[in-house]
Amino acid sequence: MTRPELFPEVRSVLDAPPRLFIGGRWHERTEEQSLPSLDPATGLTHAWIARGTVEDVDAAVQAASQALAGEWSRLSPDARGEILWRTGDLITQHAEPLAQLEALDSGKPIVPTRDGDIPGTAEVFRYYAGWPTKIAGATRELTIAHTLGMTLRQPVGVVGMIVPWNFPLLMTAWKLAPALAAGCTMVLKPSEFTSLSALYLADLLREAGVPNGVVNVVTGVGSEAGEAIVRHPGIDKVAFTGSTAVGRAVMRGAADSNLKNIALELGGKSPNIVFDDADLSRAIEVVSRGIFGNMGQNCTAGSRILVQRGIYAEVVEALGRHAESLVLGDSLQESTQIGPLVNVTQRARVSGYVDLAEQEGARIITDRSIDPGLSPDGYYLRPAVIADASNSMRVAREEIFGPVACVIPFESEADALEIGNDADYALAAGVWTSDLSRAHRMAARIRAGVVWVNTYNSTDPAMPFGGVGQSGVGRELGPEGVDAFLETKSVVIRVGDAE
Ligand code: NAD
Repeated sequence: MTRPELFPEVRSVLDAPPRLFIGGRWHERTEEQSLPSLDPATGLTHAWIARGTVEDVDAAVQAASQALAGEWSRLSPDARGEILWRTGDLITQHAEPLAQLEALDSGKPIVPTRDGDIPGTAEVFRYYAGWPTKIAGATRELTIAHTLGMTLRQPVGVVGMIVPWNFPLLMTAWKLAPALAAGCTMVLKPSEFTSLSALYLADLLREAGVPNGVVNVVTGVGSEAGEAIVRHPGIDKVAFTGSTAVGRAVMRGAADSNLKNIALELGGKSPNIVFDDADLSRAIEVVSRGIFGNMGQNCTAGSRILVQRGIYAEVVEALGRHAESLVLGDSLQESTQIGPLVNVTQRARVSGYVDLAEQEGARIITDRSIDPGLSPDGYYLRPAVIADASNSMRVAREEIFGPVACVIPFESEADALEIGNDADYALAAGVWTSDLSRAHRMAARIRAGVVWVNTYNSTDPAMPFGGVGQSGVGRELGPEGVDAFLETKSVVIRVGDAE
């Protein structure tokens, strides 16, 4: 199958020299100072990105610090709101090339990228466009006589943002839009595997009116540019999304440097719990999407599918059939439902977990063969359904971050709750039932930052998102999302006695 032609905007990003966006200007780098960016569908290099250094991060922090004290701090809240709204509109206007670039760079199938990721990114900017004018402190009645107490809400300052490769643009928007609403300035480091859409976005932000230095983009690897951000004394907060292992390093780095504020959105091993009174035809379709969507490379992937014993065999069989019906293909083809994984390491890792499931005594009920028509150098892997899994197996405890569903039987509501809560992670959970009282009981008792009932992965800019336990610290989206980029200052004023 021939690949669709690339949009000129996409071509120009791919062909651009490796570069960093600092102080509102592009700074080019040589090939020695850069990294290849690979196309996961072919394994070929399709662009070069700059390998940002400690000095580059330092220059970006200087630019962000100057911008914090400059024109940006004097802009009225409604002017900040207008910039955010315009950014949302520009993303919508550029939706087609942005979707193509994102799919090409990450391996995501084009259709959900165009219909989900890109409009979702624009929505986040539009949601936060309404926030700058709503940020408000409070006045307080004080016990101390003749004094007035009030609070000021002020931007946290310069924020370092480190994002992963699974939803490059969307995860960037979840941080960037509320931080702009709060009046912060920032240094953004996208994942070294998927940096291209962030570079495209930098131009859109400039066009929307974001002043120079407010948003700086430093591409590069985690152990260099990422660590330089975490340890920089001029950064006031790090907002990080990625693995739990790196999350720990971020926490340590913040403690060892200037004790900067941190927010961590980390991994998950979310239970998606199907009771025997659920609407099964809908449940199976959404549960399947909950683990195989984005090839399972989703922090909220419903990777532990807990199914009540009486319907276990039927659900396992239906999930297997559904998984095998999914069309594996090149990320740019409209027919593709499952694209390649993001890189070769990730494919080997995920495939290793499928082998491990068999060694642990579970049953793989899905075919593992890859269509010979697909590029042998692409990072393809068929979705796998693991039946007869138990919650103590490594495949049920460790985050696989790939299209691998562990289906675990349970007997009762108490049993479902015990198995569901028996995990180090606690990011999201799904509950499928037609019993309203049970839905409420489960939502209250399940240990997770997000619970979906009779739906899954329904994120919305208005609803806070984040994990508990080893799934993270802090919340993004919703009013909590903007709060995370504000400090509260208490001001107490002695008013004095009446004359
Ligand atoms: P990762 O932790 O390997 O990398 C994430 C980012 O951190 C990248 O930009 C990387 O360059 C950078 N990084 C790596 N080492 C670093 C270091 N020592 N110091 C500073 N930065 C460093 O994660 P990934 O493989 O890109 O993404 C997958 C992980 O992200 C999964 O665990 C997934 O669950 C998690 N994730 C969580 C959420 C959430 O909201 N909870 C959302 C998406 C992804």
